[in-house]
Amino acid sequence: MLINRKRKHIFNSWIDNIFKVKTLDLSSNKEPGFIIIPIIVAIVFILIFCFVLLTVVVKNNGGDGTGVAKQKDESNNLPSKTQDSSNNPDKAPSSNLPDKYDENQDLGSGYLKCVELNGVNFPRTPALDRRVRQIWLETKQDIDAQGIPPLRFSWGFRTNCQQINVDSGGNTKAEPGTSPHEAGRALDVRDMTRRNDAGQIRAIFVKHGWHWAGIKDPPHFDIKGYTVGEPSHADWIRKAQADFERGGPREGCRGTTCGQ
Ligand SMILES: [Zn+2]
Repeated sequence: MLINRKRKHIFNSWIDNIFKVKTLDLSSNKEPGFIIIPIIVAIVFILIFCFVLLTVVVKNNGGDGTGVAKQKDESNNLPSKTQDSSNNPDKAPSSNLPDKYDENQDLGSGYLKCVELNGVNFPRTPALDRRVRQIWLETKQDIDAQGIPPLRFSWGFRTNCQQINVDSGGNTKAEPGTSPHEAGRALDVRDMTRRNDAGQIRAIFVKHGWHWAGIKDPPHFDIKGYTVGEPSHADWIRKAQADFERGGPREGCRGTTCGQ
């Protein structure tokens, strides 16, 4: 009997527990159920909305992304191209490009340009490098503006042959192939040891970038290569001489090759 009672009690309590659990489950399922379902539906809608938004954003970003990627590729290509182009001059000796450029200039406008130099007459060639000529014209304007009587000259440009034969009159004479006159970058001004205004003339020349040779060669003024972007004195002479050999200067002042 005791055992049966105990069994009944256990059975009843077990039933009760199940019932309680069921009621608890039912109550816990029913009451939140009414709240959870709309929440779930809302969450689903939100998720769908988010998904749609994400797909739109991803598409846009994808478009931009590919655009950006293309731009990046392009921008990557551009620097690589510019690097290539910047590498090419590095690979190709930079001296070649100016030489080609200068040779083209020799064939075209030429290095030597005629300029009126009082006292420099045929068979001499009253000419200067075109850039030095421009500097001289500006110097002359300044000289004229200060009321200095016109200058007279003995030499501007010289050919190599003229440099070999030139009578320097006791002044320093450069070895043929090394004279600034052969580059068309020098002027010899007469009477610089006699003129009272020689100091004033020198000052104006120097002001315009000319180098005065000093007492060893008082008539001589020249323009240095760095003033006009000619890095090599020897190359500058070569180019000027080549221009003369091709028939320059072409404005009608051309003298002979060896005439003094
Ligand atoms: Zn000279």
